[in-house]
Amino acid sequence: MRSIVKKEDRFYSHAETVSEEHWLAIISNDISYDGQFFYAVKTTGIFCRPSCKSRPPRIENVTIFQTADHALTENFRPCKRCKPTGQRLPDHEWVAVVTEYIDRNYMDNLTLESLAEICHGSPYHLHRTFKRIQEITPVEYIHMIRIKKAKEYLVETDKSISDVGHLIGMHNTSYFITFFKRMTGSTPLNYRHNPKDHRSE
Ligand SMILES: [Zn+2]
Repeated sequence: MRSIVKKEDRFYSHAETVSEEHWLAIISNDISYDGQFFYAVKTTGIFCRPSCKSRPPRIENVTIFQTADHALTENFRPCKRCKPTGQRLPDHEWVAVVTEYIDRNYMDNLTLESLAEICHGSPYHLHRTFKRIQEITPVEYIHMIRIKKAKEYLVETDKSISDVGHLIGMHNTSYFITFFKRMTGSTPLNYRHNPKDHRSE
């Protein structure tokens, strides 16, 4: 199989680069390849069978493993939809996948729908399961992380208010200011000048 993607950023033991044959099997959900290899997606930490009906990942994020055990050894978690280990992914592990994804990608345009698609579940199920385990909804968690990061940027850097908004994925500055004030009771500028007054929030 000719390799069409080269991975240089991280070395996984037992991993292979994606060949054209692998990639065709993945994008056509070809069930005849199930059991022959598994594909893992670096950005989500999830691995799947070739036949998985989940949205195809970006090819540069895919790593191939010959066995599910190899993927597990590299800390990938089995997809909730195609169950590559034959077992159901426990809810708390799935929620951990989603939480880690938000922690790394809070600056992206995340919605309940996009998050569900990326993490291989339905929006309804994601909302309910996440809330049961984390005690807040996925959207509330995204807001919480964005506010936390915005506070760090405000206090630890001298970036402009609009730059801070961009960095947390809120590209409309007046909306960012309104959102920040609603969440913390203070404007970003006031927070920057008096972070101690707001520490308990
Ligand atoms: Zn899958």
